[in-house]
Amino acid sequence: MGRENLTFEIGPIRPPSEASSFLLRVTRNCTWNKCLFCHIYKGKRFERRSVEEVKKDIEAARRIADEIRSLSWRLGYGGDVAREVLQYVFSSPRYDEHFRSIALWLYFGGKNVFFQDANSLVMKTSDLVEILRFLKERFPQVERVTSYARSRTAAKGKSLQELKELREAGLTRLHIGLESGWDFLLQYMKKGVTAKEHVEGGRKVVEAGIELSEYVILGLGGKRWWREHATETAKVLNEINPHFIRIRTLMVLPQMPLYRKIEEGDFVLQSEEEMIVEERLLIEGLDGITSTFLSDHILNLLGELEGRLPEDKEKMLATIDSFLSHPKEEKLNYCVGRWAVKYEEREDM
Ligand code: SF4
Repeated sequence: MGRENLTFEIGPIRPPSEASSFLLRVTRNCTWNKCLFCHIYKGKRFERRSVEEVKKDIEAARRIADEIRSLSWRLGYGGDVAREVLQYVFSSPRYDEHFRSIALWLYFGGKNVFFQDANSLVMKTSDLVEILRFLKERFPQVERVTSYARSRTAAKGKSLQELKELREAGLTRLHIGLESGWDFLLQYMKKGVTAKEHVEGGRKVVEAGIELSEYVILGLGGKRWWREHATETAKVLNEINPHFIRIRTLMVLPQMPLYRKIEEGDFVLQSEEEMIVEERLLIEGLDGITSTFLSDHILNLLGELEGRLPEDKEKMLATIDSFLSHPKEEKLNYCVGRWAVKYEEREDM
């Protein structure tokens, strides 16, 4: 393999928690691609990549990692990807984005890998197992392999046994877009899954021993349906008991089909404050579960709203109440500061 082959495909997105992971693209785009609130893969066709193609990418990443280690020796760091080695890779025109991403990955320990794009579970189980084994063979230090997945695929497309096989081969965590637990809203937003399938898919993943992150979109019910959205979502989460509940805040861009619904007056966005009231109702409804609640996205208004359930539930509710008790101008000041990325949490006000 010459230096010209030292490249691998990188898909468009990954969760914030995978910022320092090696991004390995096993499929392209989304199998479903119809959700009204999502623009990422619109206009792009879903494609499976062949096992051979993915293995070539792993091999390229291995070669790049070896070159970076040699560089480290030459710079006097004994093969360790120290900060100075990372800086060298980032500042030298000799190294492209592939070198930079692998250098960053190694700098952070080289232990986490994220499979792209939107629904890797749709791959044949035997193919995914082969990829996972090859990855572990070429990078024995890898400890965590995660991916996005659709709950419908987990519910209907994979047996419990297949999910266990994937776990044994090294798949450790799945990120699923629950978005809402209310059937009406799931249908309105064209999510292509029912609340029952969310529960079935989520529980199966947990039973297989795979860690599960469920993503909820605050504001998805708009002004008309926020109550049902919050209460029904809490019920579904209670039935799944995922390892992580991750909050996202609805932001509608012109490229999203939901934008047209807003223009037509069919969907009405909530204010920031209304979404926090909705979040309170959601947290209030979480009961009998042991999930970690996270607000790990810059668009979430109250980034400090995190904790373990059930023990931190009252503390999180108190945080919301404290925010809501501020005078109107202060809340507005905080919202503006958050959008401008000046404030990370309310203390910064
Ligand atoms: S399933 Fe996920 S990636 Fe696909 S359209 Fe819906 S939100 Fe977007």
